[in-house]
Formats: sequence, structure tokens, C-alpha cells
Amino acid sequence: MDSHKLYDILKNFPSSGKMPALFIGHGNPMNAINKNKFSKSWIDLGKQLPKPNAILSISAHWITPGEIKVTAMESPKTIHDFYGFPEKLFQQEYPAPGATEYAAQTIDLIQRAHVQTDHNWGLDHGTWSVLLRMYPDANIPVFQLSLDYSKPPEYHYELARDLKTLRNKGVLIIGSGNMVHNLRTMRMDGEPYAWAIEFDQTITAFINDRDFKSAVEFQKLENLAGLAQPTHDHYLPLIYILALADNQSEIAFFNEDFDLSSISMRSFIINC
Ligand code: ZN
Repeated sequence: MDSHKLYDILKNFPSSGKMPALFIGHGNPMNAINKNKFSKSWIDLGKQLPKPNAILSISAHWITPGEIKVTAMESPKTIHDFYGFPEKLFQQEYPAPGATEYAAQTIDLIQRAHVQTDHNWGLDHGTWSVLLRMYPDANIPVFQLSLDYSKPPEYHYELARDLKTLRNKGVLIIGSGNMVHNLRTMRMDGEPYAWAIEFDQTITAFINDRDFKSAVEFQKLENLAGLAQPTHDHYLPLIYILALADNQSEIAFFNEDFDLSSISMRSFIINC
């Protein structure tokens, strides 16, 4: 059903000349190599979206407290930033070129902070596990922007607004995290917790109502937010993508399901 819904969303896509923006719930790193309904959607996206000139990924897995960095190397390495997974996952490489020119433009665009170029990071699994499915040929330049975790959610929202013009330059901006992300409460049986469903639906309603302020101020949900986002690193990328929407933007959800009981895979696409 999900996949069919995504097909309908993409089929009705107006061509505005502006790249869409994506929030992707990436979840388990095994989605990079396992065939399932989530990774199927990523394959469909790659086939049906307009081909980007470059991809900017804002991943939950690149946290730099106190500073902000943009990757600016010619050939970013594939980072296997997880453990306890099968050897096959560690063997995956995503040899996409870097995007040095777009990285420089991004630094110029961001007014609210002094952003540094980075030559050490690369592509973490928040980025490559999704892109391996979306663009398996790895021929589109990719760069990453880090998250200054020391700053409040409102700061990230304001900063991300500076990135809007990249959409007019053919840059596909992807926020990669999870709307609900609690690793301590994961269960293999897959039944989502009531609090996970409640948080997921509350944030979705905020987004549908275009009440982005409430979505950004998710910590006002107190206990619910503490359960759904105990460290909120996986929520911040969602804030970046919301900040890229205009008044007339369409927002459509897909992969609206849970994995491992406390990981929401809910994703959305911003159009126009
Ligand atoms: Zn993650």
C-alpha cells in the first residue's frame, strides 16, 4: 500500500524547476541491503524524482556539538558507523563523488553560523544506506552538513531556512533521521508502543496543519517527547526539511509504519 501511495504522489508531481526535499526515516542500517517495503520506496524515489545535480544530506549520525561542518572532499569515504551487523553490511561502499562547489555555496548561504569545511568525515550510514537504494550507480555528487547538537531545535529551523535556494540549483536536500527513535525500547515483535504512535501522529498532525512551530517545539510534549526522542538527534534532520517548505508547498507522507516497535519510518516529501 505504501509503495502504491508513493507512486501516486510522484505521478502527480508538478514540475516546478525546484528540487523536492525529503525527510527519510532510515531506521535499521540493514535497510541498505534488505529488501522490504521501506527500501522499496527508496528505489521508487530514485527512479521517479527529477535527477539532482547534487545531494545534500543532513544525517542524524553526524553530530558536531559547538560547530557546524560541511564535507568538502572530492571523494567522501563510506563510513560504517555501526557495530554488530553482518559482514555483508560492512562490505558495502558508496563511492559517490563529493560536491566541493556546492559545499562552498552552502557555506556562503548560511548566515547564522560560521560553517567550516571538513575533509575527514565522508558519508555515514544515515546517508549511504538510503542513497545506495535511491541511486545505486553512486554517480551524483553528495555532501553532508553536520548538526550542532548544542543548539536548540529553533536554531536548526532558522539555520535551515538559509538552505532553501539550493533547491533552485538542482540540489536534492535529504534529512535522514526518524520521527520516533528510541533504541532502548526496541522490540523484535514489531508492535509499536502506544506512546510511539501518539508522538508520530501528533507531529504528523502539526505538519499537516502547517503548524511547523509546534513541530519544532516538540520538547513541549514533555514525557511523550522524552520517550519518542530521548536524544533527539534523529529528530533534528526533520526540522531542517520542514524549514525548506514554502506556503504553497505540498507535503506528502510515505513509509508510514513502525519498525522494531519504537522506530517510526514515517517519511515525507516536500514539493514545490
Ligand atoms: Zn540512525
